[in-house]
Amino acid sequence: MSKDGQGTSSAKAIVDFNGQRRRTKTIFRDLNPRWDKELEFLVHDDAESLAAETLEPDLYNDKKTIVEGGSDYSTAAAARGPEIISIDQFNLLHTAAAVAWEAGKPPVIEEVEVAPPQAMEVRVKILFTSLCHTDVYFWEAKGQTPLFPHIFGHEAGGIIESVGEGVTDLKPRDHVLPESNMCDLLRINTDCGVMLNDGKSRFSINGQPIYHFVGTSTFTEYTVTHVGCLAKINPSAPLDKVCVLSCGISTGLGATLNVAKPQKGSTVAIFGLVAFGLAVAEGARIAGASRIVGVDLNSKRFQEAKKFGVTEFVNPKEHDKPVQEVIGWGVAVLVGVPNKDDAFKTHPMNVLNEKTLTGTFFGNYKPRSDLPAVVEKYMNKELELEKFITHEVPFAEINKAFEYMLKGVGLRCIIRMNA
Ligand SMILES: [Zn+2]
Repeated sequence: MSKDGQGTSSAKAIVDFNGQRRRTKTIFRDLNPRWDKELEFLVHDDAESLAAETLEPDLYNDKKTIVEGGSDYSTAAAARGPEIISIDQFNLLHTAAAVAWEAGKPPVIEEVEVAPPQAMEVRVKILFTSLCHTDVYFWEAKGQTPLFPHIFGHEAGGIIESVGEGVTDLKPRDHVLPESNMCDLLRINTDCGVMLNDGKSRFSINGQPIYHFVGTSTFTEYTVTHVGCLAKINPSAPLDKVCVLSCGISTGLGATLNVAKPQKGSTVAIFGLVAFGLAVAEGARIAGASRIVGVDLNSKRFQEAKKFGVTEFVNPKEHDKPVQEVIGWGVAVLVGVPNKDDAFKTHPMNVLNEKTLTGTFFGNYKPRSDLPAVVEKYMNKELELEKFITHEVPFAEINKAFEYMLKGVGLRCIIRMNA
């Protein structure tokens, strides 16, 4: 990891300097966070005392230039200047990641080695990530089998750095939202923590594997995911806003728009007025619900919920009878992550009376195909995301995001990787 927090990586390359073929010692790659200068290469060749050369796009005609095209070295080989004959597979990329060593203990920012993507895998530079309740839930490891050390994080926005063999629909510099894929092949296995291809983790510290989280792991400057865990989105969408769509907000939104499907003018009741619930309210607002009833045991949440279009409030503590007798019954949609031993029972008569209880994991969105359209809803101002983003911290202060979540302060805290 370089001092400014950017990732660097090294590889061996054979470079033709004016007809002389030599193997360079190292190629350091430096990814510019603003992406307005393309990629820069620093070529280091001890034998020739070439030292490090910063290669700017405007030096393309200079014989020292090796620049062109992300990590696609076939493009690089075609660049003007010295010809790259071949490049060995990337070595490990050294980067900063927040490693959770033990359940419930604050993650520590460590220098982590990130292996190159293998077949059907993609390495992504994470620019923004946010903390979701699911991270905290598995970090506390109260209800699940603990697996540590772990790199948590699954809500994020990033840019593809390199792709593995067989990846054809994504390429370096595509903008993506990582998403825990729900298809059968990749179905979330939180006890697993390794990649499908070889059953190993791509993260390590001095050879010790650090586990992946729900196929994503975004509390790191670079991550490796299966290609199926990434949704390619409009590159002009601001990643510091749309990153919240990669989990919680889309779940709440989809629970309303895709599962409950309220008609225009109908009534929607929401149990629990934190991020998920307020995303449900946003869905109800978009659907044109005329009454949006917020139910929460904490009356303080009612004020905030008004911003999300909630029109009425019910605190069950203030009623003698069960809340369903206060507000009535409709299609009930369950969201969230249950405890391992959670169960509920109901009298069969409730089903015979044509009541509907259903649930959804990701708002019934198919991440790869549907998320880009949700991003467009934000781009054309149909969907409001800013009101969900209540805090922002630099990566070095990621533990503040955990504190906010544990104290129930705010909704979403954006973690800026390059800040
Ligand atoms: Zn989540």
